[in-house]
Amino acid sequence: MTAVHVPGTPIIEDGRLVSTSPATGAEAGRLPVATAEDVDRAVDRARAAGEWWAGLGFGGRRERLLRWRGLLARRIEEIAELVHTEGGKPVADAVVEVVTAVEHIDWAARNARRVLGPRRVRSRLVLAEFSAHLEYQPYGVVGVIGPWNYPVFTPIGSAAYALAAGNAVVLKPSEYTPAVGQWLVDTFAEVVPEQPVFTAVHGLGDVGAALCRSGVDKVAFTGSSATARKVMAACAESLTPVLLEAGGKDAMIVDADADLDAAAEACVWGALTNAGQTCIGIERVYAVEPVFDAFVGKVVERAGRLTVGPDDADIGPITMPSQVDVIRRHIDDALSRGGRAVLGGADAVQPPYVRPTVLVDVPEDSAAVREETFGPTLTINRVRDADEAVVRANALSYGLGGSVFGRRHAVAIARRLRSGMASVNSALTFAGMSTLPFGGVGDSGFGRIHGEDGLREFSRAKAITRRRARSLLPSTTFERTPADVARLVKAIKVIYGR
Ligand code: NAD
Repeated sequence: MTAVHVPGTPIIEDGRLVSTSPATGAEAGRLPVATAEDVDRAVDRARAAGEWWAGLGFGGRRERLLRWRGLLARRIEEIAELVHTEGGKPVADAVVEVVTAVEHIDWAARNARRVLGPRRVRSRLVLAEFSAHLEYQPYGVVGVIGPWNYPVFTPIGSAAYALAAGNAVVLKPSEYTPAVGQWLVDTFAEVVPEQPVFTAVHGLGDVGAALCRSGVDKVAFTGSSATARKVMAACAESLTPVLLEAGGKDAMIVDADADLDAAAEACVWGALTNAGQTCIGIERVYAVEPVFDAFVGKVVERAGRLTVGPDDADIGPITMPSQVDVIRRHIDDALSRGGRAVLGGADAVQPPYVRPTVLVDVPEDSAAVREETFGPTLTINRVRDADEAVVRANALSYGLGGSVFGRRHAVAIARRLRSGMASVNSALTFAGMSTLPFGGVGDSGFGRIHGEDGLREFSRAKAITRRRARSLLPSTTFERTPADVARLVKAIKVIYGR
């Protein structure tokens, strides 16, 4: 008996990884599966290429990265179409994703020298006879392991910054979106044909595991928290440093003085864009009592207007067929435990599609509130005030992003969220702000991509001191005399002993 192939599930055929559209089952990509030896070879080649790339200096890399950025911008329709075909994401959502990636390449290329380049830093009085010099040097080869939900934005969020810092990159794209990953490295090779500075290896999770053990100098992982733990364990064997961008269960807080129309509009988009398959997607809302009913009404009215289906619909298919079971379980659990569906509900799940579902009065200990759903669903719960909202928002081990709507206290509330990022009176906007770092807390991972922190994440600080004069208070020599030590003690008491 031959197994029935579920559209969208990747398969391996004759040593090739075959990706298919989750909407139609049409083949989207066919790429060779890498063995562990192939991965090692790719990393060896990248190491030599990385030396050449680092040798180009900030100026040479900037010029080439900006050419790549230009190529992506010019071919935005082509890559958006491929993202749509392979992952099912609506083309408009794919366009927004690529725009964000283009912005990050631009910023990383333009700012790497300023953030990482050699500079003098101040000496302190006790070592005034030495000058101090700081620069950030590339690691060498960075392994990037990516998810399928944002197959352009997520790998580029690491790769563009790693490349700008002077590293070579070996990418292991998700097995659900290998063709998009290959498109990225192929277009990079068009502008940097000289050396394999940015390459890809394809396959299932074992290929990612092989990359962790291949001798790369750092691993940047984006994916689920469960896999993040495996990646960290594999990297621990060789003390390979890791950056982990993992899952989330982001909350939105709606305060009493919020603009409810704006809040509902941002909530519906933040929760349902990309069919809710967004790490920083809004999955839970806490609205304060006085505005709760009005807010829910506005969300339901907007979400109910969205179209669901292939091609031009607002909400496309669930990319990973197995995720449909998770979404169904969360809805069923919420309803069986006293929650109410004010939009959608159990019969909203019609694989490969799920219609928008808004659940209210859902117990805080239910799966729909505590676990990552990754579907076009949303819980909205009533709270007394913003303080209670913050306590509930912070009650989970995840801590990725978050959103706050309100006027007087919104920024203060955002600062109290236990998360790496927050947006006030908008949703998800921090992800596109290339000047800001992106990353999580707790089960959402650690380390930062994007912005100055993102550039430093892919480089090692190199500290150099240089003697510029004779020491007046010699201490770091056996030539020092008891009188020198006594003078040192006296000086320290004068400088610091107050
Ligand atoms: P996943 O963890 O299943 O897979 C991610 C990648 O890891 C894939 O390329 C996979 O092949 C690889 N992998 C699997 N097993 C591995 C192993 N043992 N060693 C090394 N690599 C291995 O995640 P997914 O389903 O592709 O992506 C969805 C998840 O990603 C969600 O939890 C989402 O929240 C998260 N995500 C986080 C961010 C962020 O920036 N924090 C961004 C996007 C997605």
